[in-house]
Amino acid sequence: MPRNLARSLAVAVSLPLLFSGAYAAASDDRSAPAPGASGIGDPYWPLDGNGGIDVAAYKIKNRYDVKGQALKGTTRITLTATADLSRFNLDFLLRVSSVRVDGVAAEVDQTRHELAITPATPLTAGSSHTVTVKYAGHPGTHRYAGEENWLANDREAVAMNQPHMATWWFPANDHPSDKALFDISTTVPTGREVIANGNLVSKKKSKGGTTWRWRADEPMSSYLAFFAAGDFTIQKGTSNGLPWINAVSRQLSAGEQKASLKLLGRTPGIVHALAGDLGDYPFSVTGGLTTGLSVFFALENQTRPTYPSVGADNVSLVVHELAHQWFGDDVAVARWRDIWLNEGAATFMEWRYAEQHGAKPAADTMRARYDGIPASDSFWQLSLADPGAAHIFDEPIYDRGGMALQALRNRIGEEKFWLLIRTWLDTKSGGNGTSEEFEALAAEVSGQDLTGFFTAWLRTPAKPAATADNGLA
Ligand SMILES: [Zn+2]
Repeated sequence: MPRNLARSLAVAVSLPLLFSGAYAAASDDRSAPAPGASGIGDPYWPLDGNGGIDVAAYKIKNRYDVKGQALKGTTRITLTATADLSRFNLDFLLRVSSVRVDGVAAEVDQTRHELAITPATPLTAGSSHTVTVKYAGHPGTHRYAGEENWLANDREAVAMNQPHMATWWFPANDHPSDKALFDISTTVPTGREVIANGNLVSKKKSKGGTTWRWRADEPMSSYLAFFAAGDFTIQKGTSNGLPWINAVSRQLSAGEQKASLKLLGRTPGIVHALAGDLGDYPFSVTGGLTTGLSVFFALENQTRPTYPSVGADNVSLVVHELAHQWFGDDVAVARWRDIWLNEGAATFMEWRYAEQHGAKPAADTMRARYDGIPASDSFWQLSLADPGAAHIFDEPIYDRGGMALQALRNRIGEEKFWLLIRTWLDTKSGGNGTSEEFEALAAEVSGQDLTGFFTAWLRTPAKPAATADNGLA
C-alpha cells in the first residue's frame, strides 16, 4: 500500500528544517517525533486521509439499531507508522468515547472530522500498532464537506457514497491511496439481515441480537467498504467457478423485488463477459444489493455493488458497476482528480458490452455522442484531468472520459488498445494509478507520442477537433 501523496507531503514539510541551522543539530540522528498531518495531501479534500500512517486492516464491530437509526461499536485498526509520530489522526464523525494504542489508553482530541490521537509513547517510523476506537452516535445527524451521506429509514440502512462514506460508520484513514483489509461485524435485532463486502464468515445469535460477520479478503479503499441492515432476501450460488451473493430489500414492492432479483442475477454472467476483455475478475466473490431506500445512484462497493430499484432491464447499470470492480476498485485512483479513469472506463465498458451483445459498435456510440454535443455546449468546458472537487461526478467525467478511451482505441488500434488495458490492470492490481501514469503507459505500449491526443481529450476545456490524431478521423 504505497502512499506517494504522503511521501511528497513529508518532503514539503521537512524542507524548512534542512535550511535551519537551529534544527539541523537536533535532526542529526533521528528527527524528534512530530504530529502527523491532518490530511494525506489530496488538494480536493485537504482533511481526507492523514499523514504518517498506513493502515493494513480494519476490524469493525458495530451494533446497529435499525429502528432508532443509532450505531455504536469498536473498530480495531492495525497500522504502521511511516514517520516518527508524537500524535496522529484518523477521520471520523461519530462521538468517540475512548482510544487505546497497543492496549494503552491514549489522549483524544476530536474536532468534527478529525480524531487526533496522542499515544502514551510516540510511534517510531516503521513500527506497527493496533489502535482501538470506541464510539456511538446517530450517523444521520452528521455532515462533512457539505455532504449528508447517511442513507437510512426506520427499516433499513445502507452505507453507500463516494468519495466519502467511511467516516459515518467507522474511523478510517479515509483516502483511496491507503487500501486495507476489512472484517465487518454488525449486530442487529434478530430477524433482520446484514450484508457487507466479501464473504459471510459467520452469523451468530445471542441475547442482544444476531451478529453478521463479513470479511473482504482483498485490499480495499475505505469508501468502498459498506454494510446494509434491514429486511433482505438473500440468494447465493457459484457460476463459472465464482461464488456470488445477491440481496434485495423487502421494503420494495413484490414486482420490484422480482425485477431486482432478476437483474442482480445477471451479475455472474456480466462478470464473466467483462473478464474476457479485462482479465481475471480481481476478487474472490461477487454479487449485488438492491436497496429499498430512495437513492438516485448505484455504487461500486467492492465485491458487491449497491443499486436502487431500476427494473429488470437496466443491464448497462450493472455492467458499469461491475466494470468498476477492475477500474476504481482493484485499481483505485491515487488522487480524486484521477476520477475520469474510473468513470470513463466504466462508461466505455457499457458501450463495449453493448457492442459485443448485438448493439452498435462502441465507436459509433462514441461518434454519435461527440457529434450530438455542439462545441458551444458547457459539456466541453470541463478539464477531465483536473476537474475540481465540485465536478468529479459531472457528466463529462463519464461521457467525455468514455469517448477519450474509445478515441484512444481508434487511434492506437484494437490490439495495442487491449494490450494497454490489460497491462494497466495487471501492473496496478491491488493498488492505485494516476492519469499521467496511464498516459505514459499508453505511449509506451503503442510506441506513439500521444501528448497531443491527451492534451486535447483531458486537458483542454474545448471540444477536441475531429482529426485522426484525436482518434476522430
Ligand atoms: Zn461509476
